[in-house]
Amino acid sequence: MTVLPHAPPAPRHAPAAFLRPGQRLAILSALVDEQRGLIDQLQERQRIEHAGRHFWLGRFQGVPVVLTVSRIGKVSASLTAATLIERFAVGAIVFTGVAGALGDGVQVGDVVVAQDFIQHDLDVSPLFARYEVPAYGRARFACDAGLSQALLQAVQHSLAHDFAPARVHQGLIASGDRFVSGQAEVRALRERLQQDGYPALAVEMEGAAVAQVCADHGLPYAAMRTISDRADDSAHRDFAQFVEQVASRYAQAIITRLLDSLGQGPRP
Ligand code: SAH
Repeated sequence: MTVLPHAPPAPRHAPAAFLRPGQRLAILSALVDEQRGLIDQLQERQRIEHAGRHFWLGRFQGVPVVLTVSRIGKVSASLTAATLIERFAVGAIVFTGVAGALGDGVQVGDVVVAQDFIQHDLDVSPLFARYEVPAYGRARFACDAGLSQALLQAVQHSLAHDFAPARVHQGLIASGDRFVSGQAEVRALRERLQQDGYPALAVEMEGAAVAQVCADHGLPYAAMRTISDRADDSAHRDFAQFVEQVASRYAQAIITRLLDSLGQGPRP
């Protein structure tokens, strides 16, 4: 689904809807560059080192938060998500990062807000249907509708005011432990997922893992990915420059707007 970046009225989403008293909102990214700028904006900033990662605690637009970098891939992402929940009193997770384009009409510079996730490289067939996560009875892991709506509105606002003419899409995102960077490979992946009933808009390497951890803990989760490349032969060249020059600015603007909207309500 593509949503035009018109600016709806300023949204109001109280953090109390997502966080219980004493809980923090986690802002998670895979790469250091994806979070550049956000850490500088933290008030009452405190850095804790754990499991080889830096966890930055503080307040952002009045909302208690923790920022950290998961590193790349599903294992790293699930470890980080579980640590956030178990050690840092996280009540909800928002992921911001970059991804390769997969869906029709999804362009470099657009933003995809996740509706749900699938692991495109998980295959326990013929014991289970392809992509199905054993013990869960399903392949898709949904994001929280309310938190995703707040994120979508923040993206729409940012794109309309700061980054026109980028577009925002909402839908399925595919995750796997592989940087997809070949014309033939990306075409095959797109066709396979479409044929199997999973028309993903973007491909990345962490989101589905975080979604599964959040499902286990009953935690609201929302995710946005700025499209950095077309997952084709030039993906590796486009990627690095894009993250540094574009995606980090998007993330900063969008997260600031999201937390602004969350910070309007009663403090948890
Ligand atoms: N150059 C980086 C490695 C990037 S790996 C380094 O040296 O650290 C790609 C990262 O961006 C992953 O976190 C993944 O989630 C996302 N991503 C962007 N484009 C992608 C693509 N085409 N395929 C898979 N993941 C992609």
